[in-house]
Amino acid sequence: AGTTKDILEEIRGLIPGYSSLPYRTLTNVLAAVESVTGRLEITDIIRELLVKTIECCPTDLPVLLYLLCGKIGPAYEATELGIGEKNIVDALVKSLGCSASSLNQKGEGADGDLGTAAQRAKASQRTLNFGANPPPLTCQHVLQSFRDIAMCSGGRSMNQKISIIRKLLMRCGKEGDEVKFLVRGLQTKLRCRLAEPTVLTALAQSFVESPREEALLARSTKSRKTDHNKSLDKEDIHGPHESEPSRNDFLVHALAVLRQPTANRVQKWEAAEAIVKQAYSECPNYDRLIDALISAPLTDVLRSCRLSPGVPVKPMLAKPQDSFQEVLRRMQGLHFTMEYKYDGERAQVHLLQDGSFKIFSRNSEDTTTKYPDLLPILREALQPTTTSFVIDAEAVAVDPVSGKLLPFQVLSTRKRKNEKAEDVKVQVVLFVFDILYLNDRPILHEPLIQRRALLRRAFNSIPGKFDFAISLDHHENGDTSPIEAFLDEAIAGNCEGLMVKTLEQNATYEPTKRSLNWLKLKKDYLSSNAGPGGRGPADSLDLVVLGANHGQGKRAGWYGAFLLACYDQEAEEYQSVCKIGTGFSEEFLAAAKPQLDFLILSSGKPDYYNTSLECDVWFDPKIVWEVRAADLSLSPAHKGAIDKVEKGKGIALRFPRFIRERADKASEDATSSEQIADAYRSQALVEATLSAGRSKF
Ligand code: ATP
Repeated sequence: AGTTKDILEEIRGLIPGYSSLPYRTLTNVLAAVESVTGRLEITDIIRELLVKTIECCPTDLPVLLYLLCGKIGPAYEATELGIGEKNIVDALVKSLGCSASSLNQKGEGADGDLGTAAQRAKASQRTLNFGANPPPLTCQHVLQSFRDIAMCSGGRSMNQKISIIRKLLMRCGKEGDEVKFLVRGLQTKLRCRLAEPTVLTALAQSFVESPREEALLARSTKSRKTDHNKSLDKEDIHGPHESEPSRNDFLVHALAVLRQPTANRVQKWEAAEAIVKQAYSECPNYDRLIDALISAPLTDVLRSCRLSPGVPVKPMLAKPQDSFQEVLRRMQGLHFTMEYKYDGERAQVHLLQDGSFKIFSRNSEDTTTKYPDLLPILREALQPTTTSFVIDAEAVAVDPVSGKLLPFQVLSTRKRKNEKAEDVKVQVVLFVFDILYLNDRPILHEPLIQRRALLRRAFNSIPGKFDFAISLDHHENGDTSPIEAFLDEAIAGNCEGLMVKTLEQNATYEPTKRSLNWLKLKKDYLSSNAGPGGRGPADSLDLVVLGANHGQGKRAGWYGAFLLACYDQEAEEYQSVCKIGTGFSEEFLAAAKPQLDFLILSSGKPDYYNTSLECDVWFDPKIVWEVRAADLSLSPAHKGAIDKVEKGKGIALRFPRFIRERADKASEDATSSEQIADAYRSQALVEATLSAGRSKF
């Protein structure tokens, strides 16, 4: 890999006229990124690449962004490559003429990475030259081939996929890093510490740097001045129908900075970053984001790239709390509401302009065909004036006779796809708790108190089928008893606990954010219920299954213990936090065996598994399990949130117990290393407070 200086020079030396950027340019950049560790340096490199791409071949921008993020399309378009490591090895063996064992990532000189092993094999491949070399790969061709791989279906699909991979491998150079990053791209992990937020930061900066930006801004400002001098900021954020002033101060500020001729470069970078990240969180689609950025100045991006029915937004998430006092402290002086926390599955429901409905999971997966029975209910619940919407809701299993709510476990027995309304066995009720879009207008920037009023005007409740989440509003006044009483009510109604949400101040809907404006309080996780000392995390953890040991005795023939991990987005790695063998039923272990066997990595532990523990078998990181722990402790063996709390130490779970599988979470949505560190810190705070209290008395 070249140095940062070399690569920046190489990028700056690119000249316009490409129909598509050479794939080798991208892989040189990725190799340079891999060789540096500082986030700023990585951002500089990616920014320069994007600046040059805006100049040389702007149509390649979305292609580049997908490749840089290890994606082949927007999350909601079900774009899985559908190939395992075994298939990639198969393709490598066939096209490079090497043996599978030479690709062994654990052998001498190997670093555990299949991409590196494949690049080595390509470099030593003997080739006979029969004339013209195949043309070099372009970024567009690589992304299109990945999409073709994802589209292959039917009996011979694996052969077709392998054949596409072989064609790609043939066109890679012997030198350089094309094979390495191609293989990693097929594994959907580039492993160069390039997380999506960094790519978005670099993208925002690159448009500030682009000479086109100034011209676009001048043109836009001029046309608005002649357009009756309308208030720019309100419209930029909300679109032309907005009548209320904006509450999103940070966006208003960002827009002002971008129009301010005296603002310096760094201020403009930061402002652009706020705008671009907001636009992407409302409309997580690179094609649309780039369209908006290319055709209008940054100040206008939120007008065209905004929430719209059909494109799911990543949901707003809550911070767990383990005591009533903590909830009051967070809500100090604020008007807030408490809602029942229903124990079901998140459902983001969209009514599109053409009158059709779409239902998306927490994971932005299209689950419309799972709920055919909800569609007539939704139609019935609509007020005649409601023509389009996006609502946030929880689908909960219900006993049709008694009307009692049933736990998630019952809902999970429902067919996942292509259910017929007449075959539905588990009835559901939809509890709606938010509305983000109504009648052609995004309203996620309104405070919750207004969104809720609009929600209640837009729908009729149909008891037992479609209802508003039960809620109780409250002004923080230092008294925890109303929260305690409402929590008891929620538990008696078969709910998991409460969601506590700000109503007026800091009360906009923040897609993708785990915000302090939403708190979750689960009865079972209150520190007062957590046993002696009141320790323990305030929530369960959703962990990725990395590996397993073969079972013994009663568990012979199945797996007996599993290694679980949290996810660190910055390092792009899974960090082990526990070995677990408790909480599994025999039926579960028997059913899990073939599912896990399919995911076995023949080459052993990959380099993006950070653990010092060994397992009999290692798996592709695809499965997420919910786990409860007694408490968290510092560990030399486990690597959860390594270095985040104490240098050289990881965090481990003590006495972990399996609760259930989380099929609605991808492995990147698992509990993050940040969350593990936060949970450890708040546990340490509780312990310190308790021991100070004990020493007092
Ligand atoms: P997280 O979403 O925080 O990663 P999770 O997916 O494990 O965690 P929970 O810890 O159960 O989910 O808590 C949040 C979830 O609670 C939401 O994603 C939503 O599905 C559900 N929920 C139930 N009732 C409500 C409500 N009234 N408001 C918001 N979310 C609710």
